[in-house]
Amino acid sequence: ASNFTEVPLAPPDAILNLSTLYKADTFVRKVDLGVGAYRDNNGKPWVLPVVRKAETIVFEAQPEHEYLPIGGNKSFTEAASKLLLGSDSRALQDNRVVSFQTISGTGANFLGATFLHRFYPKGTKVLLSNPTWANHKNIFTSAGFEIQDYCYYNPKTLGLDLDGMLTSLRNAPSRSIVVLHACAHNPTGVDPTPEQWKEIANVMQEKNHFPFFDCAYQGFASGDLDRDAFAIRYFVERGFELSIAQSFAKNLGLYGERVGCYHVVAHSAQLAQHVQSQVARASRAIISNPPLYGARIADTVLNSPELLAEWKEHLIAMSGRIMAMRSELRDQLVQLGTPGNWDHIVNQIGMFSFTGLNSNQVEVMKNKHHIYMTSNGRISMAGLSTGNVEYVAQAIDDVVR
Ligand code: PMP
Repeated sequence: ASNFTEVPLAPPDAILNLSTLYKADTFVRKVDLGVGAYRDNNGKPWVLPVVRKAETIVFEAQPEHEYLPIGGNKSFTEAASKLLLGSDSRALQDNRVVSFQTISGTGANFLGATFLHRFYPKGTKVLLSNPTWANHKNIFTSAGFEIQDYCYYNPKTLGLDLDGMLTSLRNAPSRSIVVLHACAHNPTGVDPTPEQWKEIANVMQEKNHFPFFDCAYQGFASGDLDRDAFAIRYFVERGFELSIAQSFAKNLGLYGERVGCYHVVAHSAQLAQHVQSQVARASRAIISNPPLYGARIADTVLNSPELLAEWKEHLIAMSGRIMAMRSELRDQLVQLGTPGNWDHIVNQIGMFSFTGLNSNQVEVMKNKHHIYMTSNGRISMAGLSTGNVEYVAQAIDDVVR
């Protein structure tokens, strides 16, 4: 008899399923708005020119392929921590920041979850925004945590439900771990304002909650690395100890190279040393040594003033194209007189927009118009281009009437 007779078939991954359906569709004007990766105005992946330059530099240096230390490429992880916290960060000067290279943002979330689970009291809840990136639930439950939702999105206003969020945080057990999207919330594109972050921090402090920032879109949201790091830097200034899962998938376009970091900010250098030793144990069990290639590219870009400046231009180009598509889509819908208010499309930020389309309307978008998006009505702004935005607007107009 097989050992696997008790293994049920897992439900298909909604997003992967969507891209299979899209690929199989032979309709010429089909549109993929499911993909969570940047596309240029021709719908093609974009290798950042600065990444190409860094690849040449790395290649010409003819590096060896020895193991990295458990913590990873130090000049990369240090530059990555400065990018998040600011190069003048007190926490960095005080040596109370622990940084580990990880398998992109996913690995950073998992390493953090694994480490925290070992040292937080049994029964600690991890609070996730409703809705959130689908993998958060998977990651934090895999690490052994119980999870609970906090209110975040208000479907009526298509914006932030701040009161609901603050109430959820107040009602949760003290010392919960709260996963916060640093910027460009996935899937809603709805971020708190600086004023709202202050109120969130107040309640988090009252309740002794632990902030776990997930930062997958720094620079990709507003085009400005510092602006997109506002929430993290603000919480550090307020004196919180916290964690950050950092991904370079989107902002450097290094998706498949799996470049990321997990950082912990502790109250003292001594505490940081203890944390460092324990995160090392956790990372040893998961990957032993992080991969070289992507980190070498990121290291080269982050530590060269010229390449860094060029990268910032690329961030403005990518975020700018996305913002232009937001305006274009909103304007087209307004022109068509499509029922409803479409301002949320320009008010939201980052890779995604929560359109407000319901799952039935999403089905019609797919079956009648060959436009693919997740059933929650989320569209990837990067899938829009000057060539297809009018077609998409007409299809939305059709399904909401
Ligand atoms: N967190 C969020 C909120 C994300 O949207 C993503 C990317 N989809 C990630 C983490 C991590 O992605 P990766 O592992 O590719 O860096």
